[in-house]
Amino acid sequence: MIDDAAADAAASGAVGGVLDPEHPQGTFVLEPGVMAPLVARIATSEGSGTHRSMCPFTGAPLVTFPVSSAEDVAACAVRARVAQRGWARQSVRDRAGVLQRLGRIVLERQSEALDLIQLETGKSRRAAFEEVADIAQVSRHYAVRGERYLATRRVPGMVPLLAGVQVHRRPVGVVGAISPWNYPMVLALSEALPALLAGNAVVLKPDPQTTLTALWAAEALDDAGLPAGLFQVVAGGPDVGESLIEHVDHIAFTGSTATGRKVAARAGERLIGATLELGGKNALYVADDVDIDAAVPGIVRACFSNAGQLCASIERLVVHEAIAEEFVAKFVRAVRNLRLSPALDYSAEVGSLTSAAQLDKVSAHVDDALARGARVLAGGVHRADVGPYFYAPTVLDDVPAQAAVAREETFGPVVTITRVDCDEDAVAVMNDTEYGLHAAVWSRDVARARRVAARIETGSVAINDGYTMTWGSVSAPLGGWKASGVGARHGAASIDGMTRQQTVVTSRGARFGATLDSLYGLGGDTPSRVLTIALEAMRKLRMA
Ligand code: NAD
Repeated sequence: MIDDAAADAAASGAVGGVLDPEHPQGTFVLEPGVMAPLVARIATSEGSGTHRSMCPFTGAPLVTFPVSSAEDVAACAVRARVAQRGWARQSVRDRAGVLQRLGRIVLERQSEALDLIQLETGKSRRAAFEEVADIAQVSRHYAVRGERYLATRRVPGMVPLLAGVQVHRRPVGVVGAISPWNYPMVLALSEALPALLAGNAVVLKPDPQTTLTALWAAEALDDAGLPAGLFQVVAGGPDVGESLIEHVDHIAFTGSTATGRKVAARAGERLIGATLELGGKNALYVADDVDIDAAVPGIVRACFSNAGQLCASIERLVVHEAIAEEFVAKFVRAVRNLRLSPALDYSAEVGSLTSAAQLDKVSAHVDDALARGARVLAGGVHRADVGPYFYAPTVLDDVPAQAAVAREETFGPVVTITRVDCDEDAVAVMNDTEYGLHAAVWSRDVARARRVAARIETGSVAINDGYTMTWGSVSAPLGGWKASGVGARHGAASIDGMTRQQTVVTSRGARFGATLDSLYGLGGDTPSRVLTIALEAMRKLRMA
């Protein structure tokens, strides 16, 4: 039960609270002064309106905060632009220092962050910890690798020795980030950290449901020593996101494919870069040589972590006919045993869905499939007894192709089963989707799994793992193909998106009068003959 006084006070926006692990589930322990400084960070002016978020564990109000107007967004971008000039002049090493310190802060203050993330999203603490771990990984990676990623490259010039060519990376200026609610800390910072490292300023518009976590991230960056104005948060819904695109030099969008198309269209009109991390309908192939008992726990996690509200979550299991009966029986048993709870500790394996809209969509997908003749092997029910938006982890069999759950992203704890009798058919089923985000292959024969992976049309493929090692391998690019995105995050890919390349070519021979102009000055066909000899020599020497 929620404490009424706490809910009222939280709803007023003046103060907030964190769920107390010592208390019965859903009880708030008010900590005046915890929420207020966070809310005070929102870039907003008088009279822009307010938004009230709720706690998914209870459905009760969580916090009311002011939203940003179009003018607030514009003012934010101006502040960011001013701050960015000084920041870009600092050394990469100094900028990297902020990221290093952020990693320490996030690890040290993790219990605070975990409470907030759970409170806003309703996820299990295990899923919340993935966010803390990810920010520790990403901040460390860019802090350590930053100088290498941003170093000036020397490349061969047009004429050996005479042309000195340097390729520099310059920050784009102000990066706008728009993020969804499912991994609020990861998605607030995942693109922002390489952007900041590269010398940009960032203006973030988080989903309204998870604004506090984004503000917590802003506070942590402040505490890590980031100068003022370089990471600002604007609050509100789609209109605030639309305003943001008008004022930035690159937009890093994470969200649905439908919204991604709109963002891409406007970015295209403005001729700014856009990184689009969108939806998926991810498949996992269970080959006939798997050790079923060893594979089941990992495959269950691949499908139901964060109650399936994870871009890389598996929604389609493609199982080899030869082992299907035994695999499905053991998988279903494990799914039925998953522990659901709103606990603010590590006891729950699956948390709540984040909103009524999520619950409606998940229920609608399952009901539609059942109406079309699908069978429920596990779950298929709203678990209102655990919390208002909990939904039982669900396994569906015999799902007809026309069912929405067969093709559309559910973004919830629902997985379908399809049987195939060879790798060839598995690849065909896995690729039969407009999406191309992530896939997984489970097989004892890694060479075979890699051959399958090579034919799957997704930006990433995990072998004998669901998603954790893929997402956590932050040196490697992670992005979607087809309707799942444009561009990629992590590693050098993020730096590519957040920088412009500038080529500076020096004619080194100018000091000695040995320039192209002096050659052309010889007149007649002499320049062409000299150049022909030089080009032929370079061809024979296979010079790059
Ligand atoms: P959504 O597209 O509805 O909203 C995402 C963000 O965009 C929110 O902040 C929202 O306020 C904002 N927004 C909405 N309309 C806008 C507009 N017209 N202009 C600018 N901003 C706008 O997404 P959602 O349904 O809340 O999030 C879930 C989706 O995100 C799923 O499809 C999931 O797969 C995807 N996702 C993808 C990744 C990835 O890395 N590929 C990661 C996490 C989530």
